[in-house]
Amino acid sequence: MTTQIAHFIGGQHAAGSSTRTQDVTNPATGKVTGKVALAVQADVDAAVAAAQAAFPKWADTPPIRRARVMFKFLELLNLHKDELAHMITAEHGKVFTDAQGEVSRGIDIVEFACGIPQLLKGDFTDQVSTGIDNWTLRQPLGVVAGITPFNFPVMVPMWMFPVAIAAGNTFILKPSPTDPTPSLRMAELLKEAGLPDGVFNVVQGDKVAVDALLEHPDVKAVSFVGSTPIANYIYETGARNGKRVQALGGAKNHMVVMPDADIDQTVDALIGAGYGSAGERCMAISVAVLVGDVADKIIPKLVERTKTLKVLDGENLAAEMGPIVTRAAHERITGYIAQGEKEGAKLLVDGRQFDGSQAGADCGDGFWMGGTLFDHVTPEMRIYKEEIFGPVLSCVRVANFKDAVDLVNDHEFGNGVSCFTRDGNVAREFSRRIQVGMVGINVPIPVPMAWHGFGGWKRSLFGDMHAYGEEGVRFYTKQKSIMQRWPESIGKGAEFVMPTAK
Ligand code: NAD
Repeated sequence: MTTQIAHFIGGQHAAGSSTRTQDVTNPATGKVTGKVALAVQADVDAAVAAAQAAFPKWADTPPIRRARVMFKFLELLNLHKDELAHMITAEHGKVFTDAQGEVSRGIDIVEFACGIPQLLKGDFTDQVSTGIDNWTLRQPLGVVAGITPFNFPVMVPMWMFPVAIAAGNTFILKPSPTDPTPSLRMAELLKEAGLPDGVFNVVQGDKVAVDALLEHPDVKAVSFVGSTPIANYIYETGARNGKRVQALGGAKNHMVVMPDADIDQTVDALIGAGYGSAGERCMAISVAVLVGDVADKIIPKLVERTKTLKVLDGENLAAEMGPIVTRAAHERITGYIAQGEKEGAKLLVDGRQFDGSQAGADCGDGFWMGGTLFDHVTPEMRIYKEEIFGPVLSCVRVANFKDAVDLVNDHEFGNGVSCFTRDGNVAREFSRRIQVGMVGINVPIPVPMAWHGFGGWKRSLFGDMHAYGEEGVRFYTKQKSIMQRWPESIGKGAEFVMPTAK
């Protein structure tokens, strides 16, 4: 049995006019479970028209009433959290408890968006000149779009739409076709929460849908999260078409381990952050930078733990790691492991040995592999330079703290980084000198909380503003400054010099 997965436009499920589809697969079993529609231009046009029609009334709705819809949505999300998590596991493969965590981190942003009346408050200055007041307000942009990756089908859309909608915009989500189902359930829950039809729309699709959004004159802003080459393309194309763009890209996150770090805590952190979600997180740790003699203490423990990872069907509550998302991703990752061997890195644990039938009943044809561990990786190797986006941890050995900082700073990506140490001064220096947007001190995956905003540096983010938090509010609104006076304070006719305070 396969299900047909299509769009959600103007408050209704919509089949759309395309005949193109893509298979949706359960990565644990390798079985096709659905077919997702891939939109054509007409489908995007219909979604933009619905969002455009809904915009004036929604933008005029008092922020506190928009917030009340968010409060109701929040309640529904808490009720349906496990249902959404099961949907994620079925199409993405990540383990159920991790999927629950993903939904929780999305819910955080909805909670933040519930505070929109406070977040939209402007500034006011009385008497900037005699009889004149000046204030600012923030107004929504109009129709905005979000284009999201496969690895967080609930959380990453929620980095965007709760803030965008609460701020008074109308929204079109173009999710990844790899795991499209949760987007439709979120649309249903928003409708049940009382969101007017057309304020939130889902268009399923691929490059055709993305290009139609990027070129549509009524789409005012685009938020993107995905790989760096596509982020770069979205940023350039969106900007060329006059849109506001934030495009978050790929990563290669390092964890610097200082000789004084607590070894057992560091091993726990590396194993969780390297292999959790099969390494398919933009904040996964993929490089361990081992400073001085710490390598000799840590490597044997890492080998042991990597070999004994519990790689199981994601629905099994004992699972620590599930399958890889698609066959194509599996092939890409095994290709990188072969490349690492060819380049001379020392392969300590080879995840390719893992057989899916060990993961659970029906898993024989799924996209399985175990954790892979490399030592003696060097900066020239492709497995160091490129994002593998799989359960492959590379250890790089450096002599001292300065070399570790230089190594991280020389990498083209700058999404997340972490430093494990017991020395406060080292931690402080690291935080100040490192050229990376999100830094953890003894925290392996430092994803900022909802009110702080998320964004990398260098080729991990194109654009000026981070996702969610106050930067998210700024991204989805434009500031207007109003200067006002009333006739009795107007002086004597026209003035030809630059207005100054009088
Ligand atoms: P992807 O770039 O392949 O796809 C992302 C989105 O772009 C999808 O909606 C996809 O349909 C669309 N897309 C793909 N190819 C396109 C093309 N040629 N033209 C226009 N649109 C296109 O990314 P993915 O494989 O779904 O996700 C994994 C990537 O996302 C990794 O690189 C990961 O680091 C990154 N990611 C980054 C962050 C972050 O916050 N920086 C967060 C999550 C994931």
